[in-house]
Amino acid sequence: MNSTISRLPAPAIESYEWQFDGACRGADEAIFFSPEDERGSKRLAREAKAKEFCTVCPVVAACLEHALRVREPFGVWGGLNTRERNDLIASGSSRVRHAS
Ligand code: SF4
Repeated sequence: MNSTISRLPAPAIESYEWQFDGACRGADEAIFFSPEDERGSKRLAREAKAKEFCTVCPVVAACLEHALRVREPFGVWGGLNTRERNDLIASGSSRVRHAS
């Protein structure tokens, strides 16, 4: 059997400690996650507000890598909304391969 520990998940503290340095720490989660019925310009405005945090965030790369790796289905992560992350995944970008 060809087993390897490299495929095992890293300890949680290592996987998520970057979140302590996120620019959004302490911010209202509602800025990053949409209510079910949110559409159009309301959604765009909320996402733009969320992305303002991401623009100055020191852990934006780690955040996006996490979101790509676990295929986060909701919210703004690493400066991208769900559709933008899905587009990146569909493109086969090396950023996605690196995160997996
Ligand atoms: S990149 Fe954005 S969502 Fe991720 S930790 Fe930073 S501010 Fe928060």
